[in-house]
Amino acid sequence: MSVRPHVKLTKRLGQHLLVDGTYLRKVAEGGDVGSMDLVLEVGPGTGNLTELLAGSAKRVLAVELDSRLYGGLKARFTDRFELFEGDILAGGRINPAVVARLPARWALVANLPYNVAGPVMVEAFYLANPPKFMCVTIQREVAKRIAAAPGGKTYGVLSVLLQAVADVKILATVPPGAFLPPPKVESAIIRMTWNAERAAKIKDRESFRDLAGRLFQHRRKTLRGGWLRMLGETERSRVAAGLERLGIDPVRRPETLTVEEVVGLADILGSLR
Ligand code: SAH
Repeated sequence: MSVRPHVKLTKRLGQHLLVDGTYLRKVAEGGDVGSMDLVLEVGPGTGNLTELLAGSAKRVLAVELDSRLYGGLKARFTDRFELFEGDILAGGRINPAVVARLPARWALVANLPYNVAGPVMVEAFYLANPPKFMCVTIQREVAKRIAAAPGGKTYGVLSVLLQAVADVKILATVPPGAFLPPPKVESAIIRMTWNAERAAKIKDRESFRDLAGRLFQHRRKTLRGGWLRMLGETERSRVAAGLERLGIDPVRRPETLTVEEVVGLADILGSLR
């Protein structure tokens, strides 16, 4: 069933085709694809996952960067299928030409190119029109970071940004042998379901992202010894008051802050502006 490529795959584009049917099905069936108006697939490659999606989705929009694959994809799929020939990212954000094609109810389902997986997931969930869910294959180590709880080494910006807007579940670990060619690392299938209630607690998403990024630059230092010292005099005393209001001890380190606490902090900082 899996189509092997006629072209030489390149590492630069993160080209590791998922060829094991069991895992392909787990990705395609990880979320309710049928209830979506469109499924966005980033990096269809030769179309092995696309084939399953085309069978269950109303419409598939596939975004592929490698022009050598266009002919094969267009020959293999005609119905309810659109190929966007280009890069999923533009200037670090989701390509606006792709965003313009997204309806209200859409999902991202893909074996993501690992070199852009992080930005694609975060940028998609921080669009004005975010996906209802994502079900994607990524490096196992990245999946662990996304799902991590506060306090550990793997907890960081990715955990905070994605858990603040979605329910995260790792569905399976995928061995290198499921791919062609096999990558050096283990992979995982992760599903993230948009949580509108939680996302609504973020008043200003840009300042929330900004704060999360700055906080974790000093993850090993206490708030007082790291992040707070980077602020100006007046801002610092007001933030200190805000920390007290939230019941956050300034001797804590950023990596111990819960997602809710970072959201609360961003709120206080936003109101200072
Ligand atoms: N989904 C396929 C292939 C996954 S490999 C499968 O499972 O078999 C990753 C794919 O993403 C490759 O086809 C690669 O060409 C494509 N790709 C890499 N970077 C991209 C980018 N920035 N935008 C769109 N596609 C990209």
